[in-house]
Amino acid sequence: MSKHKIAMVGTPCEIMAASKLQYYTDSPIDVKLGLFCMENFSYRYFENLLGEYDLKMDDIEKFQIEKGYVFLLLKNRQTVKIPLSVAKRIIRKNCNICVELTSETSDISIGSIGSEEEWSTLIVRTKKGEEIVEGAVKDEFIEARDFTESQFKLLNKLAQTKISKNIENIERREFLARPVLYQRVKSDSSINKENIESNFIDLKSNVIDVGACVLCGACEYACPEGLITIDDTKPIMKGNCPQDCHACFRVCPRTFIHDDLRNDNSKPIGDYIKVLSVRSLKHIQGQDGSIVTTLIDYLLSNKIVTEALVVDKKDHLAWKPYAKITNAIDEVVKSGGTKYSVCPVFKPLKEMEKEVN
Ligand SMILES: Cc1cc2nc3c(=O)[nH]c(=O)nc-3n(C[C@H](O)[C@H](O)[C@H](O)COP(=O)(O)OP(=O)(O)OC[C@H]3O[C@@H](n4cnc5c(N)ncnc54)[C@H](O)[C@@H]3O)c2cc1C
Ligand code: SF4
Ligand code: SF4
Ligand code: SF4
Repeated sequence: MSKHKIAMVGTPCEIMAASKLQYYTDSPIDVKLGLFCMENFSYRYFENLLGEYDLKMDDIEKFQIEKGYVFLLLKNRQTVKIPLSVAKRIIRKNCNICVELTSETSDISIGSIGSEEEWSTLIVRTKKGEEIVEGAVKDEFIEARDFTESQFKLLNKLAQTKISKNIENIERREFLARPVLYQRVKSDSSINKENIESNFIDLKSNVIDVGACVLCGACEYACPEGLITIDDTKPIMKGNCPQDCHACFRVCPRTFIHDDLRNDNSKPIGDYIKVLSVRSLKHIQGQDGSIVTTLIDYLLSNKIVTEALVVDKKDHLAWKPYAKITNAIDEVVKSGGTKYSVCPVFKPLKEMEKEVN
């Protein structure tokens, strides 16, 4: 068993990968803080789009998506807005077949939909999540109030919109023989059978080559032979796989999902214990209510976890995300704010384990 107990932050697809890692491996991930996510963008195409507005990534202080626009709050205090109908063309292809808005397999999900400015919407999903939120309220890290009927309505409506829109895309892809494995309904025993017949070749042809890869890096992390490397574009495998290895195929969030983790899309925000509107009493620098930063602060300060796995931005490449593991609160604070592109979030876990061995 790992001596590390890690709190991880991620988008719904990354949290699904973390859930599969917990299910299939001896994972050090202990607490999953899932973000809401309607869509994500390609970093390179985003740079190009900004160029059309005579802007560079480095000009941006903060990105905010709401009411059908991508708002760019610039360092010179001006605001530029790009209609989402224009930004649509830079959405990552895999996001068009994603039906999950609210990180349904997390312990706690966090987003802005439904809450007022500087407040966040928080979904408590597990007993562990409930204890954390109650502890953070009691120790005055956050304040919480009940979610109202109209807030629920809005959240459910937007979650349902994402499902309906992308189910159409999934059906279209399946019709064109481009599989969307994670949405296929299968019994656990037939998933086990598929898993033991599959390896990286199947992952490549059924996920990576058909534009379903979310670039999470779980395959790289889980490969016991160290054959997979992932850069900015896609995972690459070099070498020969042992006959009995299926690790990369099993942990990928875009291969088959076993019953415990799968939502049949009848519950737009998945299963939950309660939904709250919350605000931080400790931090203000974050994207919405700084709740993610504050919960990690609470978890580290109370030694409930040993480290946090967060996504920061590179100093030399504005808004380019990279994942890091830290136990320093100021590093967590520095990582606040939403980066609208992807990076292999599990990469630092592999590096951490290499150092231990
Ligand atoms: C790609 C993306 C799309 C989103 N879309 C929506 C949406 O449609 N509706 C909605 O309500 N909320 C959305 N969110 C969530 C929202 O932007 C905030 O992250 C959330 O409300 C938490 O705010 P906060 O102030 O509590 O977080 P903060 O305290 O600012 O902390 C944010 C945390 O997010 C993590 N993070 C930042 N960028 C990424 C990334 N690219 N990948 C993984 N982790 C990251 C960092 O590790 C940081 O710890 C999205 C987030 C992302 C990353
Ligand atoms: S696939 Fe895209 S839309 Fe879906 S959770 Fe991941 S980043 Fe968000
Ligand atoms: S060794 Fe196993 S995990 Fe690694 S690429 Fe081959 S099948 Fe995948
Ligand atoms: S192929 Fe690898 S990087 Fe891509 S979604 Fe699957 S596990 Fe993540």
